[in-house]
Amino acid sequence: ASLARISATDSALGAFLTLDEEGARAQAKKLDAALASGEERGLLFGLPAGIKDNIVTEGLRTTCASQFLDNFTPIYDAEVIHKLRSAQSVTVGKLNMDEFAMGGSNENSSYGPVRNPWDTTRVPGGSSGGSAAAVAAGQVYFALGSDTGGSIRQPAAYCGVVGLKPTYGLVSRFGLVAFASSLDQIGPITKNVEDSAYVLQAIAGHDAKDSTSANVSIPDYVSSLTGDVKGLRIGVPKEYIGQGIDPQVKERVLEALKVFESMGAVWEEISLPHTEYAVATYYLLASSEASSNLARFDGVRYGVRADNPANLMDLYRRSRSEGFGSEVKRRIMLGTYALSSGYYDAYYKKAQQVRTLIKRDFDQAFEKFDLIIGPTAPTPAFKLGEQVDDPLTMYLNDIVTIPVSLAGVPAVSVPCGLADGLPVGLQIIGKPFDEATVLRAAHAYE
Ligand code: GLN
Repeated sequence: ASLARISATDSALGAFLTLDEEGARAQAKKLDAALASGEERGLLFGLPAGIKDNIVTEGLRTTCASQFLDNFTPIYDAEVIHKLRSAQSVTVGKLNMDEFAMGGSNENSSYGPVRNPWDTTRVPGGSSGGSAAAVAAGQVYFALGSDTGGSIRQPAAYCGVVGLKPTYGLVSRFGLVAFASSLDQIGPITKNVEDSAYVLQAIAGHDAKDSTSANVSIPDYVSSLTGDVKGLRIGVPKEYIGQGIDPQVKERVLEALKVFESMGAVWEEISLPHTEYAVATYYLLASSEASSNLARFDGVRYGVRADNPANLMDLYRRSRSEGFGSEVKRRIMLGTYALSSGYYDAYYKKAQQVRTLIKRDFDQAFEKFDLIIGPTAPTPAFKLGEQVDDPLTMYLNDIVTIPVSLAGVPAVSVPCGLADGLPVGLQIIGKPFDEATVLRAAHAYE
């Protein structure tokens, strides 16, 4: 059914970069055999999944939607892929994204944009646009995305599905092609909150192969979905519903808060005073880390190599000039500049200090509140081409997802109605490693 749905819809959407029809059928056959031999079913038994193309898959092309990796087939699986296999889901293929996860509209893919299933003249969001579109269009039952500054939550909001960014360290990053290592997290994109709990259950947990993986005990997320939110204390940052937020989006969020009220939760307006610095802080830190991480793409070790280089410098220069797209080059230049001697203290170090202040805003709010709630993005999905030539406007779309990433706390985006016929996302943010409460609240609301 999944393969049939993909073949019927994907020429209009462009969600898949690599379809592994043969592999998927072979996996499904194996599961049939396991079932026939009386084996117990895994947590995600038989569920067709799509994987963002920056998560490495053994024997299956992994491009990060970059020309640079057009010919790259990994020789090992990411830890999350290993875990999905143990849970017995079926990987159907690899999903389109912004190149190296840099972007918020999926228009930075070297293989063409993804289109929003609700309105194909609009973007699906990004950078996990293929993951969100594939789930929204019913091509797969769930997808994995990655979120550095909003790339799971924002496309989930634009496509009317559920996207969870776990606490930094909860899910192994082993085998996730690094963009900004202090921010990157893998998480599920699903049709509903219960599915999100199931997929998180399967992929969370300590991994010695990732030095930033947290050694915490993993609760039973599925059984925490009790439907009860009585007495939960919710803070609503005034910065998240103020200037720059579309009035209809604000209206949907306020309506959602009424639903929480009716279920016995209480909310009040709070302030996260350093929110206004988050976008600048993020783009300095993320670009700095990216410039360092992407140094490994040199034309020698991975991917595409320039033809007939005159010497080693020429090989590096032309491989990188030809292999990377313009947004990736912009980030590498920004990051290299911010890290260079003479500027390091003024930009990189300062940004690290502001990151601490932003994190403290959250720490303080969570002394009094169980959850923080606001919109996932300031507007619903915009039109293809509308912002692509204006990086600054594009970066401002991340205003309410980025602070959460800088603080490393978990957040889910759940659909909360429509604005002009397009889905709006409600962002529910929790304490570190308290995904159980985040999911419980999202599930009770949904
Ligand atoms: N839109 C943000 C960026 O371009 C977030 C990307 C992400 O989370 N991977 O960096």
